[in-house]
Amino acid sequence: MNSTPVSQPLLKIDAVSKAFGKTRAVDGVSLDIRENEFFALLGPSGCGKTTLLRMLAGFETLDSGQILLSGDDISPLPPEKRPLNLMFQSYALFPHRNVRQNLSYGLEMEGLKRAEIRRRVDETLASTDLTTFADRKPDQLSGGQKQRVALARALVKRPKVLLLDEPLGALDKKLRERMQLELKRLQHEAGITFIIVTHDQEEALVMADRMAILRDGRLLQVGTPEEIYEAPTDRFVANFIGIMNFLDGEVDSESCFKLDGGRVKLTMRHGPGRATLAVRPEHVSIATNGNGIAGTIADIAYHGTERVLHVRTRDTKQAIQMRVPAAEGRNFAAGQPITLTFNSAKCRIY
Ligand code: ATP
Repeated sequence: MNSTPVSQPLLKIDAVSKAFGKTRAVDGVSLDIRENEFFALLGPSGCGKTTLLRMLAGFETLDSGQILLSGDDISPLPPEKRPLNLMFQSYALFPHRNVRQNLSYGLEMEGLKRAEIRRRVDETLASTDLTTFADRKPDQLSGGQKQRVALARALVKRPKVLLLDEPLGALDKKLRERMQLELKRLQHEAGITFIIVTHDQEEALVMADRMAILRDGRLLQVGTPEEIYEAPTDRFVANFIGIMNFLDGEVDSESCFKLDGGRVKLTMRHGPGRATLAVRPEHVSIATNGNGIAGTIADIAYHGTERVLHVRTRDTKQAIQMRVPAAEGRNFAAGQPITLTFNSAKCRIY
């Protein structure tokens, strides 16, 4: 968790909309983003993340709404007049310039003195671990190094806000995971607000101080990764973030969830009737007193430190995943009957 003190919004996105023909790419989105925050815009392909980011950067006009930076409306300003810097998905490095020249370019355009440029470039090369690559051209660098150069080139300009569109998209899984932590460290050290676009929910959970979930141009939920994981307000969000079991059953007059002849007591209030219960795999356990939902183990998947049991309920054959430590998992076999119960405090009804 970022320990930087939280202050009033640096960036206020106020009822912003943008349509392309009939497509409402961004539809009445309002968001406050704070100083020094690592903020993620998350959602499935086509939900409007990139369009929103491009509107912040000034590459896309607004149909309606306002974008305020420290209280000033920046909506009419062209990209180069905004203290926001967009790092492109493709990195867009100059192929014929070496790393140092790639970093210097933007500062030369600002008309800074040579000594000042050298000092800032050296500082940024050091903080991004690129000093030893300063004389190399982009095609002499690995994917991860190119990514760092693109980031360094954005950081050296010291924007108030850095906008990053799928910055780790081109990297393989291992490098991606390392760079996630690296990005977070750099953001913290530079004291710059980062707004990152990603469709990778795990990436957003790892990096962001707060995140916004978008769908079809609309904002569904904003919160810390923990708030969104633990208390998704919407079924779509619950399904999109992490793994969630959804079970169709019935709530009885004693606030028990009933399914295939079994019962689980709920802690939340819910009127009797048909209901969908949502519970994460880590809140499913094996019932020891015989009360619970009966099913059969359909499959067991080994994940190193744990095994995931894929269970089907007895009559309606609904899927439930649960996790057990890998060693304990050896005691189970596919085809085995099992009775499951849920941590009621962690269940949600949609
Ligand atoms: P992805 O993760 O696939 O990049 P995204 O969430 O960033 O998706 P956007 O690129 O913002 O989504 O697109 C939102 C919607 O607007 C999509 O339906 C897209 O097809 C549409 N769209 C975006 N740019 C344009 C454009 N220039 N002209 C027409 N439609 C567009």
